[in-house]
Amino acid sequence: MASFQENGNIHDFQEFVKEVYFLPNDRDYELSEMLNNIQRHAMRCIKGIRQGNAEKTKVNALISLSWFSSTMSRLHIDVEDAVWQRFPYLCSYCGKAPCECKKNAVQGRKKVIIDESKRPKTMREFQEMFNKIYPASARTLEIAGLHLAEELGELSEAVWTFRGERRYCDLEIAVKEAADYYSTVMSVFNSLNVDVAGELSKLFFNNCHVCHKAPCECPYRFVRRFK
Ligand SMILES: [Zn+2]
Ligand SMILES: [Zn+2]
Repeated sequence: MASFQENGNIHDFQEFVKEVYFLPNDRDYELSEMLNNIQRHAMRCIKGIRQGNAEKTKVNALISLSWFSSTMSRLHIDVEDAVWQRFPYLCSYCGKAPCECKKNAVQGRKKVIIDESKRPKTMREFQEMFNKIYPASARTLEIAGLHLAEELGELSEAVWTFRGERRYCDLEIAVKEAADYYSTVMSVFNSLNVDVAGELSKLFFNNCHVCHKAPCECPYRFVRRFK
């Protein structure tokens, strides 16, 4: 039986998703369909924000995050490393925690020095880190949703630029955009005051959250229509 524990780290979650979904994804899904599933559920999450439906927002953000992990595994990108390199307990743009981008109208991205001793050990600690860099009190849930949509677009664009020409310098940009997507999903959860690791451990306590098999046996036609 495969499960995700609430004290696990981002790497553990990616490995869990790989164990449950790598085989059906590899057989049945094009990369474009995987990207589409990240977006489909993120858009439902955003619809939940507009409707004031916290449960719909939460569940769809969790499923979007699961498809994101699968897509990163397809591209052989380690999510936790990507996130840490981009957000080493500092804003990736102004290099401060809390972020001062808005206050100081920062011109150009600052070069940051990574202090490995600050690296969070669990997914929960990473979420707390994002709340220190980008405090929920500094934005509304609606703005967090808008930012998620923006980063999804940039992730898609970066992946397609890489796939268009198969240049590894473009893949590096996709790795950075992947970290930005992760950051904005965490902002949505922080604005909702939801503990992601705890929710993932409840959803994924026994293999696939729908069929409870590992590898997942949910039929393609069912997943396509899954809401
Ligand atoms: Zn900043
Ligand atoms: Zn399943």
